[in-house]
Amino acid sequence: MNHRRWHRLQLWLRRPLIPVTSTRSALVVVLALSAVAVGTAFVVTAPVAAHGPDPTVGGALWAPNQALAYQWRSGQVPPDWMAAPITAAAGDVGASRASRAATFSKAAGSASSLIAYGEPTGCSTAGIACFDRSGAPNSFRMWFRAQGHAFDWGTLRWCQGLSTIANGCFDVETIALDEFGHVEGLDHHANLADGSDYLDAVVQAVSHARPAVGWQARAFGRCDTGRLQLLYDRPNPGSLFSNCLAVPTTVGLSASSSSIWVGSTVQLTATLRTTPATANGALANDPISGRSVVAQRRPVGGSTWTTIGAMGSGSTDGTYVLSISPTATYEWRAAFTPGAADGAVASSSAALTITVGGCSGAGCPSRPVP
Ligand SMILES: [Zn+2]
Repeated sequence: MNHRRWHRLQLWLRRPLIPVTSTRSALVVVLALSAVAVGTAFVVTAPVAAHGPDPTVGGALWAPNQALAYQWRSGQVPPDWMAAPITAAAGDVGASRASRAATFSKAAGSASSLIAYGEPTGCSTAGIACFDRSGAPNSFRMWFRAQGHAFDWGTLRWCQGLSTIANGCFDVETIALDEFGHVEGLDHHANLADGSDYLDAVVQAVSHARPAVGWQARAFGRCDTGRLQLLYDRPNPGSLFSNCLAVPTTVGLSASSSSIWVGSTVQLTATLRTTPATANGALANDPISGRSVVAQRRPVGGSTWTTIGAMGSGSTDGTYVLSISPTATYEWRAAFTPGAADGAVASSSAALTITVGGCSGAGCPSRPVP
């Protein structure tokens, strides 16, 4: 038996369903129709070779950091072996969302969001689990097929429900994390043709069964979080950008004075932000703190920049400062270089000239005056 299986059909209410075909020949994955979409024209998407953040399923977003509580659907309470990993997956969302995406937790009392085990489900005949986010921003639904459910490809086995674990089972926590990702608004990641980027996303059209790569995910992948950041922004100005993204940035530079006497001090202030580009989504025009920004200078009209010093954190988000006492007139700029784990793109400011004047003779002030 092939260990990779499709696992669902989402309920894409108010949106045409798009069946996705796997490029792996042995594994044609077709997301079947849901009842609400009967009659909707099919569009078959071409395999996508480009690597990037997960697509989106559309619909309303949750509020930033919205806390969503769920309860088990009455009469469809999952057995303990399944309830625990579902709730663990909810915790995985909070720990790995790298954004202000919604969080999930089991309600102490009642809740409007429901998670159900066994029949009936809102899933297509092909789905081992599925979701409905049409209630956003108020509530969601999620369903998991029962252990032993008979599909045309065989019998569903959830790993946690087996007395002896065996290959071919599906990990509840991994599948639940995929479903929570959908509830956030993520669609299935478009993998490279060779599948080498499979671990970049948990939200996958083809969830892997044990022991295939990625069968036991405990955190979102970088291309899941990349999209979550585009939808919901980073947690704070110092947070790294998912390096599934390449977020363009811009640096501005100002000086406390553009003309000084020799011996005077000038404070340089750089401001690092994402660009306001629409493609940056919720990340647009964000201040970026805690990065490596250096001050550089060159002779006026020169071409080679020399780094003079690292700029320290300023008093407001995304600002960097450095005091300098230049002894000659130079052009200055601030340059940002992201670390390897950071999905921001390097940038540098326009050049700023600071003119340094000297003085000799009886007409000079007794001390330099800026
Ligand atoms: Zn999925």
